[in-house]
Amino acid sequence: MSANIQMPRIMRIGGGVISQLAEVLVDLNLKQPLLLTDEFIVSQGYVQIVVESMQSIGMECTVFSGCIPDPTTDSVAQAQSILMSVNADCLIALGGGSTIDTAKAVAVLAVNLGKMSDYKAPHNVSRGLPVIAIPTTAGTGSEATSVAVITDTETQEKMMCKGLGLLPVAALIDFELTMTMPYRLTADTGIDSLCHAMEAFVSRKANTFTDSIALAAMESIYTMLPTACAEPDNRVARESMMLAATQGGISFSNASVTLIHGMSRPIGALFHVPHGLSNAMLLPEVTAFSVAAARPRYAQCARQMGITDNRNDQFAIEALVDGLHKLKSDLSVPTPKDYGIDEKLWFSSIELMAKQALESGSPANNPRIPSEREIVDLYQTIWH
Ligand code: NAD
Repeated sequence: MSANIQMPRIMRIGGGVISQLAEVLVDLNLKQPLLLTDEFIVSQGYVQIVVESMQSIGMECTVFSGCIPDPTTDSVAQAQSILMSVNADCLIALGGGSTIDTAKAVAVLAVNLGKMSDYKAPHNVSRGLPVIAIPTTAGTGSEATSVAVITDTETQEKMMCKGLGLLPVAALIDFELTMTMPYRLTADTGIDSLCHAMEAFVSRKANTFTDSIALAAMESIYTMLPTACAEPDNRVARESMMLAATQGGISFSNASVTLIHGMSRPIGALFHVPHGLSNAMLLPEVTAFSVAAARPRYAQCARQMGITDNRNDQFAIEALVDGLHKLKSDLSVPTPKDYGIDEKLWFSSIELMAKQALESGSPANNPRIPSEREIVDLYQTIWH
């Protein structure tokens, strides 16, 4: 086996590690941070903890709290203008995947100039300012990935950007920050992590290193996500989900996502469906479409997740698809129709979504590589 594995230089993991930010900055010899976050995170008092940690070593930091869900080239430009005015040597991202991706985009533009569309895949982004990521959702794993997803305001395309320049130098993975996540956010971000783990495991770029991490993540998520949703104060469930989210990030960042994420991004861009939710809408149907091309792998997913212990692969993959339908139903994941998307707009956008999905490159890593026609069919199927 030969694999190229990339991860943050420092990962501090556990309840309360947010307070260790100062030590991390000292270890990395970083002195002038710009903190990116959003207003909700400010209201929870998390920013105050970060600021106090820095004050303990005599460090000041500028705070920009204008990050938005699903960052756009316009919202990135706002944060970028603050960076230029403060001459920062690093960015601290405190928030969900959207805030972390905003910081990554600003970090790349600070060093490479140009505009974000210059850096969309297959461009390989090699350089960026150091980013320290402190996730507050257990989902994207962006704290440990060399990926950022930014929507182009002009074209409405959700652009995937990749490369070592987008990988945070450090991540503080503190599950206590996720205890405030409401039901829907917990469910959707958790399914996002499950997709990362499953897609990495069945990806054509899977490798032995990512396999072990992806399997650990999918087991934790399938067993703990319903508890995290039903019992938001359950620290064991929250801690498992946080770790699994980072593991999902590490696994897909080093093995790629596949068809689910390829098809999910256009739904998010065109219909403003939260990222985890659009993945959740697709997970069972895309799995059903793909299983025959990698029976042993999908069967192993079913056994690892505890859906079945049957040694017959055909039995196990059928149980997997049923299990994913059940999870989707248990977590009240709506169809695009029930979510309120206009039927005419959905069907008139399908050709464009299929084209964007294919162009992203992710479907080419799927065990069964779909044609554009098959992607169109899948978008039609999930409507119902
Ligand atoms: P998010 O960052 O978009 O946040 C969604 C909402 O949740 C926001 O309003 C935020 O304020 C709120 N929120 C955040 N933390 C909270 C908490 N602890 N309690 C209550 N509310 C909280 O959500 P996300 O799912 O983490 O990120 C989605 C984005 O990440 C999408 O744009 C997606 O494309 C991207 N993404 C990136 C990667 C990557 O590797 N870079 C991977 C997957 C997805």
